[in-house]
Amino acid sequence: LESLAGTVRIQTDNDVNRIEATLAVLADGGRSTLGQSLGLTRQETRYDQAALVTTVGSDRAHENRAYERFTPYGPLALLPSGENQFALAWTLPVDKAKSYIGLPDNDFLARLQGVFGERAGFFWRVGVRKTYALSLTEILQPVCGRTVAIGNAAHLVHPVAGQGFNLGLRDVAELAEFISEALILGDDIGSPDVLSRYAVSRRKQTRRVLRFTDGLVRLFSNELPGITLLRNAGLNTVELLPPVKRLLLRRTAGLAGRLPRLARGLPLELGRS
Ligand SMILES: Cc1cc2nc3c(=O)[nH]c(=O)nc-3n(C[C@H](O)[C@H](O)[C@H](O)COP(=O)(O)OP(=O)(O)OC[C@H]3O[C@@H](n4cnc5c(N)ncnc54)[C@H](O)[C@@H]3O)c2cc1C
Repeated sequence: LESLAGTVRIQTDNDVNRIEATLAVLADGGRSTLGQSLGLTRQETRYDQAALVTTVGSDRAHENRAYERFTPYGPLALLPSGENQFALAWTLPVDKAKSYIGLPDNDFLARLQGVFGERAGFFWRVGVRKTYALSLTEILQPVCGRTVAIGNAAHLVHPVAGQGFNLGLRDVAELAEFISEALILGDDIGSPDVLSRYAVSRRKQTRRVLRFTDGLVRLFSNELPGITLLRNAGLNTVELLPPVKRLLLRRTAGLAGRLPRLARGLPLELGRS
């Protein structure tokens, strides 16, 4: 990516393809090398946790139901994926995740069954196991010239609340709204003014989800007896108070505050409201 006067040049495949555009949107994920080469500064908090991901086969149909368990080590999610199969994302301390990778299949399945229980049936098959280091990462200024980073290239959240993809979709919705507004007004869609306004507007909601997710990680990874008691009391109270539960869900899902039009199911051409 090279910033020129009035355009950005995108060069791919060892100079085979060159594109000049008024705006480049960087969406190359959490290991974004382009963002680093552009000098987008990352603020990263590493958790001493890794996500162990794999698939597990069960003897029971999942009926498209997803499960989340808060285990002593961290949250464990089972998401329906294929017939009688779940995608597993298990948050574990880094050393434990590494040791679980090397366990014989039967031992691994026995441990999983032990912490999860039998609600989703009997686990009898496990796929290839991989681990990912987990961190909370924010690009403090996701704009450089005529380039803007979105999705995981702009922020990485812990998978505890399953919000990473949702945040990225809302980046798309909000950026599309700013672009459409600029087009309606005859403005330059890649101008620093348009991109900075997008970044400022987006930062508020992204930070809310980042902070909330970070709080959940710390709360559910802490097994001090007092904290466990308070946490359980809190969860039970929330369960008994539907309005509080709804509010909490909206915050967790990043649905609190103003949402971009596309995220509300509205078309773009009406402009901002
Ligand atoms: C264990 C786990 C569980 C998760 N569960 C959930 C969940 O339940 N709900 C949820 O909302 N989110 C969840 N997430 C997060 C979600 O997966 C990510 O937030 C989402 O995939 C980010 O999308 P993205 O397009 O920004 O990045 P990515 O999905 O990483 O996509 C980036 C793409 O860019 C490509 N790319 C990279 N460099 C280049 C280049 N130079 N040129 C061209 N292409 C390039 C990559 O190959 C890749 O295809 C989970 C994440 C993990 C690790």
